[in-house]
Amino acid sequence: MHRVIILGGGFGGVAAALNLRARLAAADEVILVDRRTHFMMGFRKSWVITGRSPADEGRRPLAALEQRGIRVLNGTVTAIDPAARAVEVDGRRLEADALVIALGAELAPDQIPGFAEHALNFYAPEELPRIADAVKNFRGGRVLIGIFGLPYKCPPAPFELALLLDEFFRDRGVPVTIEVFGPQPMAIPVLGPAGCAAIEGRLAARGITFLPNHRATRIEAGEVVFGRGRRTFDLLIGVPPHRVPAVVSRSGLATNGWVTVNPETLETGFPDVYAIGDVTEVLMADGRPLPKAGVFAEAGGEVAAARIAARFAGRQPEETFAGNGHCYLEVGGGEAMVVRGGFLAKPAPAIEVLGPSPGYLREKYEFERRRLETWFGD
Ligand SMILES: Cc1cc2nc3c(=O)[nH]c(=O)nc-3n(C[C@H](O)[C@H](O)[C@H](O)COP(=O)(O)OP(=O)(O)OC[C@H]3O[C@@H](n4cnc5c(N)ncnc54)[C@H](O)[C@@H]3O)c2cc1C
Repeated sequence: MHRVIILGGGFGGVAAALNLRARLAAADEVILVDRRTHFMMGFRKSWVITGRSPADEGRRPLAALEQRGIRVLNGTVTAIDPAARAVEVDGRRLEADALVIALGAELAPDQIPGFAEHALNFYAPEELPRIADAVKNFRGGRVLIGIFGLPYKCPPAPFELALLLDEFFRDRGVPVTIEVFGPQPMAIPVLGPAGCAAIEGRLAARGITFLPNHRATRIEAGEVVFGRGRRTFDLLIGVPPHRVPAVVSRSGLATNGWVTVNPETLETGFPDVYAIGDVTEVLMADGRPLPKAGVFAEAGGEVAAARIAARFAGRQPEETFAGNGHCYLEVGGGEAMVVRGGFLAKPAPAIEVLGPSPGYLREKYEFERRRLETWFGD
């Protein structure tokens, strides 16, 4: 009998658990640990903020995985010992034959003085009701959407939020000026100059200002302070800096800020210890990091599961992580663009930006529906 412990029940962890369950013998144990009780996709946040669809509609209990033969432990991972393939959950030690680390990226608003007091944290699920209320009750003025650190997950998300908020306020006749700032020289550098021009053109057409090369150092009441200059706001929605979860940092696995893995096998330096998704850093051929996105975490979970199952069966693992993926960027008006390609292609990432079209928005709804149905069974 073998035991696999999966740390984290997000995109990567759930995909790994289900794929392992499908591949391993019934007597083998698949354990998934998460301190959260529910799964929800990141992109639903914009729908909650703009009142389009409530969080509960896309939230599913991780405990539903128990019916699929996965043991779900609700608790906090307090230590990881990769050499022993052992972990502690709320102080209790568990050992395994293989570990999959899928703990994601931790939000670090504390790295920006004033963030907690003055900004609404777009990426914290627990803040969603507060943001939705603030947006609903906003009577006009300057809305700032800020990217406060790199890397951050789902690079298109703040731009999508700007477009959806523009539509929201326009429909209600609320007079607003919307600005998006970030530290990078273009909106989403991974898309290249042509892809960025498409996104930035879309923002400009809606009167949304994009402020590149704006690295915020702190926030004061009604003002974001940059290395050079300041920007006032009446409503500030921020993407906080991200960092590797503290427990991963303590384990010694994050030698480079994030967990370094073999980009094809997703193995860490420790035998039978894999890391997938946002907790890792995988470099593309141009030297930039692969964007942190659910599609890559999910694909990583599938690869790790297949390789673990092969090892347990005494076979040479063959499945590798290809870095192919896509994600949708809603532009309002019932349309979305799609960004897709081979992000790990050589000699350079091969990425295209298509649309917008109503069909891509339908695909986005389908993306969520299909996964919730196959993963949690409804
Ligand atoms: C607004 C927004 C929009 C997005 N849109 C898209 C999109 O359209 N397409 C796309 O592909 N991606 C999108 N993403 C990104 C996507 O959500 C992440 O990249 C993805 O969730 C990463 O998966 P993961 O499994 O690596 O980590 P996560 O999904 O973050 O899962 C990590 C899990 O680990 C748990 N955890 C962490 N530390 C501990 C601990 N110590 N003990 C116990 N549990 C712990 C957490 O509770 C969490 O459930 C979006 C993200 C946001 C915020």
